Amino acid sequence: LSNGSVEKEKTLAMIKPDGLSGNYTDEIKKVILESGFSILRERVVRLDEDGAKTFYAEHSSRSFFSSLIKYMTSGPVLAMVLEKENAITDWRALIGPTDAKKAKISHPHSIRAMCGLDSEKNCVHGSDSPESAQREMSFFFQEMSSG
Ligand code: ADP
Ligand code: MG
Repeated sequence: LSNGSVEKEKTLAMIKPDGLSGNYTDEIKKVILESGFSILRERVVRLDEDGAKTFYAEHSSRSFFSSLIKYMTSGPVLAMVLEKENAITDWRALIGPTDAKKAKISHPHSIRAMCGLDSEKNCVHGSDSPESAQREMSFFFQEMSSG
């Protein structure tokens, strides 16, 4: 940019039910802020079945879908909009691989290694692309819908 500042990007982060009930929120937020993200918005939401199915629609044909919906509706989640340069990729890197069991070995300093349990209960979510980020931020924060 002409003023020399760096273009920032937004992503949707979520602390899933196991992360919230396990009291990992403060620790996760500390990592978020120490890693240079700003938390622009946050909201605690209890997803109902329709909401969870909409959020994870891309996985509706997978064998783990019904279990995933049960997990995601088992308690409240904390949705956050994070902002920083390269936020989408950097947040995904910070949370680590989907399978928290594998994360503990291959990415021991990742958030999923810290608070996740297995390939399902992995305590956090991160958008995987600019398109997902826009859709997921609009899902939780209607005022962020483009238009
Ligand atoms: P990520 O959250 O890393 O983007 P995916 O988009 O592949 O991972 O899957 C969405 C969520 O579905 C995962 O975070 C996890 O909670 C659950 N999940 C993924 N794969 C499995 C699996 N093999 N068994 C059970 N649950 C799974
Ligand atoms: Mg995904």
